[in-house]
Amino acid sequence: MNSESLKMLRWRYAIILRFGLRLYINMTLCYDLHSHSNASDGVLEPAELVKRAHSMGVNVLALTDHDVLDGIEEARNTAIPLGLVLVPGVEISVSWRRRVIHVIGLNIDVENSALLQGLTGLCEKRQWRTIELGKRLEKVGIMGAHKGAVGLSKGRIVSRTHFARYMVDQGYVRDFKAAFKRYLGQGKKAYVDCEWATLEEAVGWIIDAGGQAVIAHPARYKMGRGLFNEFLSIFKASGGCGIEVISSSHSQQEIMTMAGYAQQYELLASVGSDFHEPTGRWAELGRMAVLPSHCVPIWQGWEQAQRVRRA
Ligand code: AMP
Ligand code: MN
Ligand code: MN
Ligand code: MN
Repeated sequence: MNSESLKMLRWRYAIILRFGLRLYINMTLCYDLHSHSNASDGVLEPAELVKRAHSMGVNVLALTDHDVLDGIEEARNTAIPLGLVLVPGVEISVSWRRRVIHVIGLNIDVENSALLQGLTGLCEKRQWRTIELGKRLEKVGIMGAHKGAVGLSKGRIVSRTHFARYMVDQGYVRDFKAAFKRYLGQGKKAYVDCEWATLEEAVGWIIDAGGQAVIAHPARYKMGRGLFNEFLSIFKASGGCGIEVISSSHSQQEIMTMAGYAQQYELLASVGSDFHEPTGRWAELGRMAVLPSHCVPIWQGWEQAQRVRRA
């Protein structure tokens, strides 16, 4: 073999080895791409959340607070010295055919003006909704909920989760489940209908911010097959590219169903605990089922794995 073809052969092997190594690292890292801090309705400060994720063995964590990006800078600054990769994210509230859908944005530019403007609009709607919710709860005998929920949110965005916490703390209901089942869930006594972003808007803001749009906890929406297929087609046509196949709220059966949809619609598969607090009411960070082998992970092609290796 002459020296030229030997060089070619070495070069080829080097590429295969590099690609293989990168694939291996990508497959073996622990990804958790859906979590909340107290910038929205989680209870941990962004820094505490990142430290907890690190201690749970998470290598790549997305902070995806509802409709705000406020926790990302603190989370990122905490993640760097720990060698954990922090993926800037968001979970956007969307109204679609009289349902509330959550769309996750991953790897977004947190300074993007279209995204920031869109989220500011949603936060203004939240303020109106908070007042309305307080009024409706008062009508059914639950007093001081507006003040209580605002207090629990510590001046940040107010979610139904804060109302549920207040109602449990004050003994109005036994647990979160009862708070949503009796008062806060869609169509229940104190439910306030709100027009969130349209699906096209939410996906558009995420793409404008250079991110990837992912459908959060798809099995929670309880759509029939026909409607869900229509939803997926519109999501895909709007530029959405991912679906949470693994979510703490999915059963093994639902994981397989969503993996099937991911394949059918050529959507990338995401995984997320949807962690909110360390009480056991929600799943723990990084503790999730394994992605079915035929799924294409959303992190395929991400540079993060390389950075973790260097850290
Ligand atoms: P919001 O975005 O303010 O309307 O609140 C939605 C949040 O409430 C979700 O992100 C969950 O954290 C929480 N939530 C919704 N339904 C339930 C439920 N049935 N049990 C417990 N928490 C719930
Ligand atoms: Mn939440
Ligand atoms: Mn959600
Ligand atoms: Mn969530």
